[in-house]
Amino acid sequence: MTRGTVTDIERYAINDGFGLRTTVFLKGCPLKCKWCSNPETQKFYQQMIYFQDKCIGCGACKEVCPYGAFTNGLEADREICEKCHDRIDAFKCVEECYPQCRKIAGDKMTVQEVVDIVKRDMPFYQLSGGGVTISGGEPLAQPQFTFELLKAFNENWIDTAIETCGVGAVEDYKLIAPFLKFAFMDLKCVDNRKHYEWTGADNELIKKNIICMDELSKKYGFQLIIRTPIIPGFNDSQEEVRGIAEFVANNCKNYIGMELLPYHKLGRGKYISLGRAYELAELATPTDEHMDKLIKILDEYKIPIYKF
Ligand code: SF4
Ligand code: SF4
Ligand code: SF4
Repeated sequence: MTRGTVTDIERYAINDGFGLRTTVFLKGCPLKCKWCSNPETQKFYQQMIYFQDKCIGCGACKEVCPYGAFTNGLEADREICEKCHDRIDAFKCVEECYPQCRKIAGDKMTVQEVVDIVKRDMPFYQLSGGGVTISGGEPLAQPQFTFELLKAFNENWIDTAIETCGVGAVEDYKLIAPFLKFAFMDLKCVDNRKHYEWTGADNELIKKNIICMDELSKKYGFQLIIRTPIIPGFNDSQEEVRGIAEFVANNCKNYIGMELLPYHKLGRGKYISLGRAYELAELATPTDEHMDKLIKILDEYKIPIYKF
């Protein structure tokens, strides 16, 4: 049976589509957005995460690490730890950490294991018009697993949604489209160079896939929302949002609307637990007034606005 790598399954989610939902976060993403609030989902392999504030300093992790990662107190050398997933005695430090301040990001799970968890909240989905959302990372970075999950959710009469950054093979979008009820697709910026600078990849494929998904949404009857995270200094100017609105208005005919998501710093602690620096520490969340101005631009293009 196909297995995938899952970083988290969040129950009672309210921002990932209509109604009350369960969100399944898959591990691995082809982009490296500087503002990413789920950095533990970026790498495709399992990683050790360390919550220093819970550590009681017992030293058990240091004792058992077979790879000499502890050269500086209880701060493990991340370069060594990043190779641990491939080793025979992987993540010994996690096994020995009873307060659970060291954990593994990324569980190998079967489709059935995920479905069993998602099914627990069926009554809530039925009452609220909710369902399951597959997110990430990028779901289409694990295309077979995502396809099988969506198929299984359909067989169990669970409404499905996907959150995708748009970097996937067009064949894979076509494969999953018949099993979708709803899709969020990101368009972060139309300028290719800037997109590369802030996400590590250009946006040509993303733009093509948005047009493809727009057509597929008509063919298969799912609802498509184009989503733009608003990041100060990257795409928060009126010109940038106008460019995005123009692309959407000119190229998408079947989508139901757009959502603008203001930048937030909620993922900051996760960078620390991964031993990574958070580059955007100085950025402020856009004000409501500024977001209103950007939303008015979408209005000018007669783009319906959604807020989840
Ligand atoms: S993740 Fe692996 S290498 Fe790093 S401290 Fe734990 S056991 Fe050692
Ligand atoms: S085993 Fe856990 S609690 Fe003990 S020192 Fe290591 S991280 Fe801290
Ligand atoms: S696409 Fe999403 S998950 Fe991937 S790096 Fe960007 S913000 Fe993170």
